[in-house]
Amino acid sequence: MKQSTLPFKTRKDAPKDEVSLNARLLIQAGFIHKEMAGVYSILPLGLRVIEKIKAIVREEMESLGAAELSMSAFQEKAIWEKTGRWDDAVVDNWFKTTLKSGGELGLGITHEEPITNMLAEHVSSYKDLPVAVFQFQTKFRNELRAKSGIMRGREFLMKDLYSFSATDEEHAAFYNRAKDAYMRIFQRVGLGDITFPTYATGGIFSQFSLEFQTITDAGEDVIYLDRKSKLAINKEIMSDDISNEIGVDKATAEELKTVEVGNIFNLGTKFSEPLGLTFKDEKGDRYPVIMGSYGIGIGRLMGTIAEVFSDEKGLVWPKSVAPFEVHLIALNDAEGKVLAEAENIYQLLRTAGIEVLLDDRHVSAGAKFADADLIGIPMRIVVGSKGLADGTVEITDRHTGEVKTLAISVPDIVTHFHG
Ligand code: ATP
Ligand code: MG
Repeated sequence: MKQSTLPFKTRKDAPKDEVSLNARLLIQAGFIHKEMAGVYSILPLGLRVIEKIKAIVREEMESLGAAELSMSAFQEKAIWEKTGRWDDAVVDNWFKTTLKSGGELGLGITHEEPITNMLAEHVSSYKDLPVAVFQFQTKFRNELRAKSGIMRGREFLMKDLYSFSATDEEHAAFYNRAKDAYMRIFQRVGLGDITFPTYATGGIFSQFSLEFQTITDAGEDVIYLDRKSKLAINKEIMSDDISNEIGVDKATAEELKTVEVGNIFNLGTKFSEPLGLTFKDEKGDRYPVIMGSYGIGIGRLMGTIAEVFSDEKGLVWPKSVAPFEVHLIALNDAEGKVLAEAENIYQLLRTAGIEVLLDDRHVSAGAKFADADLIGIPMRIVVGSKGLADGTVEITDRHTGEVKTLAISVPDIVTHFHG
């Protein structure tokens, strides 16, 4: 992509109406646009990050044998009444509206009810189980506070996975594989070392749910972490009994601020019973399906990565989720020779399968460097007239600041990136 084609500009200063670092940085660097409190549009650079995160999550979901689908945002009242979750006294963050023709509908806060209702039409025998489905879908929640930027939106992208099993053993096997897949996802996006499975409330069926909590001061949660066992307990449920049961000693555990990037629930038959999702076993006896649900906040994950990987100059994306691998900067010269050579390198890198953002704008070198720091692409290649005369370019690592001089030979440059 050529930077001159992007209609969205970086800003010199962070937006004044944002308190959260992730939104300040992402707005300043031109990754997102704030529409209103808790509502953000995703701009081209941001979308590339979202798509990278989605690709990693999708790969891990497919490794579980789950099939991708896409469900509607509009929700039918009658389905949610069957589980008691339409009632505002039970779920207080619905966005609801009325139809011209009469009746109400809601905007999806999550999708347990409609997916259970849908599968009741498709699952009838133990031979149909186990199955799992997932989606990337926009959720709507009337959150009371929206001060954490894209880490807490009123409209946000979630990956939700649902599993359906015939027996407890079948369910437990899937649940454990999903837990491992989750840890692989957080590892792959760069958060593995600071993300911990954490016992929490909200277990509808079993006593606990498992949250995946990432250490950051931007988080709204507090956990007690035992570094040795890598187990943690959410402060919300911490008590002597629970401390003993899980084996995390409050006295020696670290108390840390964290953000919940994902969570997994044993749902048991809480949804399948009221919504009539049943199967017949070998003997022809009918039982309700055993379910699990597994969420990851895709936007929240991008916000968390932005918070964790940033410095005083801007964003510092891990390579796995960076919008581009290389930021190729053409410095201005009077004859335009530098830009011509940079265009050459740009085409050749792209042919080699390397994702490049070419800064071909007619702005000062200082402005280009400041923007490159702000945008945070892991590697920067600078093409200037001095280097051109020597047949070299400069490569800078955004993480370490390390600078290397390389010959302008595409094999050399490509080897530098792909070993
Ligand atoms: P929280 O306690 O932070 O409100 P939650 O318990 O409501 O989260 P779930 O309903 O289980 O979360 O949603 C699954 C995942 O979606 C969460 O783990 C989180 O990563 C993400 N998520 C939840 N609410 C939001 C939000 N308002 N904005 C962005 N992501 C969210
Ligand atoms: Mg919530």
